[in-house]
Amino acid sequence: MTFRRILALAVAASVALAAGCGAPAPKLPADMIYTGGDIITVHDAQPEVEALAVKDGRILAAGARSEIERAYKGPATTVVDLAGKTLLPGFLDPHSHYFSSLSVANQVNLYAPPAGPGKDIPGIVAELKRFRDERNIPKGELIQAYGYDENAMPKGVELSRDDLDVDFPDNPVLVGHVSMHGAVLNSAAMKMYGISAKTQTPPGGIILRKPGSNEPAGLLMETAYLPIFSSLPRPSAEQEAEWSRAGQMLYAAAGVTTAHEGATHAAELELMQRAAAAGANIIDVIAFPFVTEFDAVLEKNPIDTWGKYINRLKLGGAKITLDGSPQGKTAYFTTPYLTGGPGGEKNWTGEPGFPEDYVQAFVKKVYDLGLPLNIHGNGDGAIDMLLRAHEYAAAGDLSRQRHVTVIHSQFVRPDQLDKYAVYSITPSFYTEHTFYFGDTHVLNRGKEQASFISPMRAAIDKGLRPTNHTDFVVAPIDQMFVIWTAVNRISRGGEVIGPGQRVTPMEALKAITINAAYQYAEEKSKGSLEPGKLADLVVLDRNLLKVDPMTIKDVKVLETIKEGKTIFKAK
Ligand SMILES: [Zn+2]
Repeated sequence: MTFRRILALAVAASVALAAGCGAPAPKLPADMIYTGGDIITVHDAQPEVEALAVKDGRILAAGARSEIERAYKGPATTVVDLAGKTLLPGFLDPHSHYFSSLSVANQVNLYAPPAGPGKDIPGIVAELKRFRDERNIPKGELIQAYGYDENAMPKGVELSRDDLDVDFPDNPVLVGHVSMHGAVLNSAAMKMYGISAKTQTPPGGIILRKPGSNEPAGLLMETAYLPIFSSLPRPSAEQEAEWSRAGQMLYAAAGVTTAHEGATHAAELELMQRAAAAGANIIDVIAFPFVTEFDAVLEKNPIDTWGKYINRLKLGGAKITLDGSPQGKTAYFTTPYLTGGPGGEKNWTGEPGFPEDYVQAFVKKVYDLGLPLNIHGNGDGAIDMLLRAHEYAAAGDLSRQRHVTVIHSQFVRPDQLDKYAVYSITPSFYTEHTFYFGDTHVLNRGKEQASFISPMRAAIDKGLRPTNHTDFVVAPIDQMFVIWTAVNRISRGGEVIGPGQRVTPMEALKAITINAAYQYAEEKSKGSLEPGKLADLVVLDRNLLKVDPMTIKDVKVLETIKEGKTIFKAK
């Protein structure tokens, strides 16, 4: 030990002694000290503490109440009594579609239960009427809804224009399909968008017709819906900040303090930047521009502006999509679906979203720029493709940490997970599928493959740090439900989908806190309650680590705090 080191220790000891002898005010009084409830740090070295001190939006210290109060409580410090509630790090959203939240905040939620009131047609109509009356929507104004799922309708009876026309003769009504690839329109909406018996069904599109007639029945999907989708109302300049804040409040109400925008278009990014510059951002938002928009975004945003927050908005990296969804039978596999293709095709394996050489060139471009990459891959065929692209683009240095995340990774094989571990690739799983589509996956892919969807247990055992997401607005932004599905893996039909892949509540919590912070290379500032990190916090009504795991989905978010400031409080 050097003399200087001994001197430093002696000074530290005398300071500590002075603090213990009733020294006047601490040098660093905290703005706030949280105590009086369970505090989960998600920091393995100190998993539970009695008190947390916060100053200037950052965590000062965590530890025993007496020590924290002695060292950091000054005359101006607010001691926040948690009154038995539970405090933990704010959630980081590993994958969703933030931009959609801007419009969703002004729409009717028609998800099927338990996520919404869309249990049957009368339920849907009643909810639309409630929305119209509550908001005093005038005649002629478009009413939009989201989350409609015909699979959830009793006896397979689908919502039609006639169901909507009875109560909405004078308002165009557009009920968005849960896939976001279509909608049911009433007659006023059909008139508005020029859809009639004379409208031809475009290739790759669906226009449902009334039986024995050419008259559209209500539902339009895929290419038939695209022209309507692109002419849907966008916020005006004055509305941009207002809508952005409303969208972010949906995240804040779910305890999310860092949100993800999973396939950003250039024009959307510009809107997000304008809104952020106008002070709209109450939480951090990370955008991943989509492959087809990448050059346009790069042209306006030089590489040195990526990877850092500007007005709480960060360009996180690039996004490419390699396949579709397993429930839509558009995920790309190496083996055929047991139930054929979406159009009744035999020996159907799905198809890749882009040609292999295009994917490889793009991955190399992103790696060469040193940017993080998010790759959407659901089927094992798509995942093989991305592993080959990685081997091509990262040749000579396969294992370097490049912050590559495979969004969904739902039907990843064990041998592919081994490669993830060697190549420093992170899986961002979607365990909510065990509930929403577990029974469908068993039919389409067989029990063995379905049992291994979003295999979080296997990934953790192989040394990976998996994250877990909602894909909002495809599923509601509900982090407790994300954790519940990772821990229980119970399908809508009540079957346990792959009991061997269940994880502990703490492991499931890490997937939306510290592991997600690693995914974004923000582990030094977020994801756990440690001194120096941001005071991004959430208060829950119960300790999700102590309750019966089956009740985790009922745990409520009471308060969300971004950098020491309350941004959401439950009524
Ligand atoms: Zn997505």
